[in-house]
Amino acid sequence: MSTGKKLYEGKAKIVYATENDREYLTYFKDDATAFNAQKKGSIENKGSINCTISSALLELLGNKGIKTHFLDQKSEREMLVKAVEIIPLEVVVRNIAAGSLCKQTGLPEGQKLAFPLVEFYLKNDDLGDPLLTIDRLTLLNIATPEQISLLKEKALKINQYLIEFFASCDITLVDFKLEFGLDQEGTILLADEISPDTCRLWDVLEQDTEKRVLDKDRFRRDLGKVESAYQQVQKRVLTQIEKLKNN
Ligand code: C5P
Repeated sequence: MSTGKKLYEGKAKIVYATENDREYLTYFKDDATAFNAQKKGSIENKGSINCTISSALLELLGNKGIKTHFLDQKSEREMLVKAVEIIPLEVVVRNIAAGSLCKQTGLPEGQKLAFPLVEFYLKNDDLGDPLLTIDRLTLLNIATPEQISLLKEKALKINQYLIEFFASCDITLVDFKLEFGLDQEGTILLADEISPDTCRLWDVLEQDTEKRVLDKDRFRRDLGKVESAYQQVQKRVLTQIEKLKNN
C-alpha cells in the first residue's frame, strides 16, 4: 500500500498524494455499499478486479481520444492518475431501462430506450445523490452551461465506444455512471472508475433475467455469485483488449 498522505477515502477507493503534485495514487478496496451505504459488505477481490477493468477501459477510451485521468496501473489494486478536482456530479448514461429509472418512471426493466438518456445527479451522500434539472445545475454553480453541454457530449461519445466494446465481449451495456474532474489547467478529464460497480452489464449469452446480471446488482439484490460475475467481466474485457492489441 502507498505511504503518501491520504487525501480522501470514499466507499470503494482511497486517494493518496504522491511525490508529484500532479499525480495521485488511487487504491481500490473490496468494500461494497449500496442504497447510499445503507447496505454494506465486501466482495472478495473486487478492488483488484475493478482496478484492472477500469485501467483497461480508461486506457481504451484514451486511445480513442477521450481525455482521462488514467496514467498507469501500478499494482493489482493501485492506479496512478492525473491529479484532478472532481466535479461533484454523477453523470449517468442509460441505454436500457433499469434501476432507479424504472422505479421513478414505471418503465419496465429491460425496455430499450428510444435514445441514450444522460442524467446528472448531485454527488452528495447526505442528500442521497438527488437527480438534478439543468436549471438546478446552473443555479448551484456546479458547472457552467458550456461545461454541462461538454459533459453531455463526452458522456454520449464514451457511451458509443463502451456499447461497442462491451458488445464485442458479449455484454450489453445497460447503463453506467461517470465522474469527471478538472486538471490544473481547467481541462475536463474523465475520472473515477468504469467497472461492474458503476455499470449495469448483462450477459448476452444468458436469457434468464437474474443469471444475466454481471454487475453490482448481484450484490444489491442478493443474487449471489458476485465475485464470479465480476471475474467473468474481467476475463472477457482483458481477452478482448488482448485481441484488439494483436490486430
Ligand atoms: O441506481 P441507478 O439506476 O440510478 O444507477 C444507474 C447507474 O449508475 C448504474 O449502473 C449504477 O451502478 C450507477 N451508479 C453508480 N454510483 C451511484 C449511483 C449509480 O455507479 N452512486
